[in-house]
Amino acid sequence: MEYTNYKIHHLKGYIQSLYLVEYPDKLLLLDGGSRGDVKRIENFITETLNRKISDLKLIVVTHLHPDHAGAAPHLRKKHNIPIAGHPELDYWYNGFWGIIQHFIDTLLAWYVATKSRNNYKRMWYQRSLKPDFELCDGQHLPEFYDWEVICTPGHTTHDISIYNRKDKIIYIGDLAIKLGGKFNLPFPVALPDVMEKSLEKVMNLEIDKILFAHGGVVDEDYIEVFTAVKSNLKNYPPKKLNKMKWFTNLNGVIKKHKK
Ligand SMILES: [Zn+2]
Ligand SMILES: [Zn+2]
Repeated sequence: MEYTNYKIHHLKGYIQSLYLVEYPDKLLLLDGGSRGDVKRIENFITETLNRKISDLKLIVVTHLHPDHAGAAPHLRKKHNIPIAGHPELDYWYNGFWGIIQHFIDTLLAWYVATKSRNNYKRMWYQRSLKPDFELCDGQHLPEFYDWEVICTPGHTTHDISIYNRKDKIIYIGDLAIKLGGKFNLPFPVALPDVMEKSLEKVMNLEIDKILFAHGGVVDEDYIEVFTAVKSNLKNYPPKKLNKMKWFTNLNGVIKKHKK
């Protein structure tokens, strides 16, 4: 996708999609990827784009799940690339139940990856990221002022989406997924009421292109897309996932938000 001063590259990651925004003088990565994506990202930058890793100036982590925060800390450690995320990002896996939840989530992600017959890659990652930039609703990304943060919690307590107001593009992380041609809620929805508000919030923006972490690039009418997603909240969780819900709702931080 080409725009006036940048291009967006869609990379197929280990479990999810990654989007690399390329400017003449800098690169921005959406989002933090799976741990197994580190090499993929490095190779894409140095071999496909023929650029230096040091051109990558920022990694945005939309939430702390293994397919969105797994590669980021490794890239930061190796190449000194700063990470931006929500101020509550690191609360997610806090405390005893947080440790258990982190273990279960990593195991689930690994299961999803092996089920879709991806080659075996290490999945384990740190459960606390300590973002270099903490970004709240309406703030612009450092060095990438044309992209702003829209807080869209519901899937977790701290999800963010990244929006380009001028070009009407939004990267939504796990606010919604596209699976088998259908638009749906992510799993889990930790806070259904909050999720409803987040979906309404993005419907109030103007959007031409939705970048999904799970589902690729979508040009369809965004009101129809998010209305379809929202309508599934009535039947959440779907019957076949009802038992799974127990495994994904251990975090003390969810209980605190529900109060
Ligand atoms: Zn997620
Ligand atoms: Zn995801």
